Amino acid sequence: MVSRQMPSVALDRAEDIHAFQLEAHRTVDWIAWYLEHSETFPVVSRVRPGEIRSQFASEPPDDGVGTRGALEEVRERILPGITHWNSPEFMAYFAISGSPPGILAELVCAAFNVNGMLWETSPAATELEQLTLDWLRQMLGLPQALFGLIYDTASISTLCAVAAARERALPDVRGHGLSGGPQLTLYCSAEAHSVVDKAAMVLGIGHDQVRKVTTDNELRMNPMQLAQMVRADRTAGYLPFCVVATVGTTSTTSIDPVSDIAYVCEESSLWLHVDAAYGGAAAIVPEMRWVLQGCDRADSLCLNPHKWLLTPVDLSVLYTRDPQQLRAAFSLVKPYLETGHDEEVTNLMDYGPQLGRRFRALKLWLVLRAYGVNGLQSVIRRHLQLAAELEEWVQTAPAFELMAPRHFSTVCFRAIPSREAETACEALNRAILNRVNRSGDAYISHTQIQGRYALRVAIGHMWTERNHVERLQELLTEAAAAVT
Ligand SMILES: *Cc1c(COP(=O)(O)O)cnc(C)c1O
Repeated sequence: MVSRQMPSVALDRAEDIHAFQLEAHRTVDWIAWYLEHSETFPVVSRVRPGEIRSQFASEPPDDGVGTRGALEEVRERILPGITHWNSPEFMAYFAISGSPPGILAELVCAAFNVNGMLWETSPAATELEQLTLDWLRQMLGLPQALFGLIYDTASISTLCAVAAARERALPDVRGHGLSGGPQLTLYCSAEAHSVVDKAAMVLGIGHDQVRKVTTDNELRMNPMQLAQMVRADRTAGYLPFCVVATVGTTSTTSIDPVSDIAYVCEESSLWLHVDAAYGGAAAIVPEMRWVLQGCDRADSLCLNPHKWLLTPVDLSVLYTRDPQQLRAAFSLVKPYLETGHDEEVTNLMDYGPQLGRRFRALKLWLVLRAYGVNGLQSVIRRHLQLAAELEEWVQTAPAFELMAPRHFSTVCFRAIPSREAETACEALNRAILNRVNRSGDAYISHTQIQGRYALRVAIGHMWTERNHVERLQELLTEAAAAVT
């Protein structure tokens, strides 16, 4: 190696911090500008596949360009490849919000850079997680006996819940594995999220053993059929062990009859997990609390504050009344992880597959502390109100029809051409979707409802206002006229 003078990254603390301070101020100014002007960008990025990557050399940079140089590249070269989820015009999938307190919490979290695997490795990370989840539990009207945990996504929350259920059905399955044992069966409705199949895939249950219970005309799980399927599987020698009910399905936001499903689970000793990833947040407003009816009888429930509670991606919450079962499934303490406090504290590493964990609780805590319950309730109420107005518009607009009952802030509908077959109807609605999304002024998504193509609008960004929804209505009307 040729010896060189000082490398361009001076590992000089004072100099680094001074540079950080300058760039942080500039970056925060830019973020503030971005948040105020996110509508000036096309909501859906217009880059072609490979375009972002091709702007950069394929080899790693030998010499750095410095923090300022790199941040300039973010604005100039990376920004065009961003689809603007943090824009009030984003109404696809489930619209979400990276709120100012949430954004700042992410910055502080990175500055602390703690690993909250053990209580001792940062007591605040563990205690704030438990405190904040207890606040949220009270906001949702859930029972006191619930233990809460933060994971990254509902995919992992569900995986952990199903792992706990599996451990309860087959004690020490973690040790013995599944081979030679009875074949486990898991139940959810045909409308449940693919996270259920994925959990079965990962946990050795196999997605073929995920029974899809039929739904009624409002796409809710049929509990009678659930009971029949459980009985039939038992007779056939399977071991039914878990049911996943959904409050707010991803396609149409239908709500499974959790109380009736809980009854079946209690009768047959099945673990009941409720997936309320999106819909659960609505229960923080008292007039929507009914959506979690029966959930006090569930063994576990997950919801995603990163969906509808103004918390930046990612943060999912799992509540369970049987945390010992989660521990039974996951705790594995090597001598080097032992501390003097293990008898008196909770060590979060014991409750999931991961050892290290980010201090995610800080952002949820900061959001709750900054806005308070009243602030969050007012955002949810506004979204529900705007969605109700959009629903009414769909019902009165001659060119459109509603495709599913609306319970939350998501509306499913389609354009109805006169005297046209189902296939023509799908092509027409696809064309409308493309036109709306290409406009750059809105982003909506689509779904299949009982085999029929539907447009889907989810109102969930904290700064979405009536004018944004009205603009969408204009776009839909124009697009329907243009493609018919
Ligand atoms: C969004 C969603 C999921 C998946 O959430 P991730 O956090 O992305 O894993 C699962 N279930 C339901 C009902 C959802 O709405």
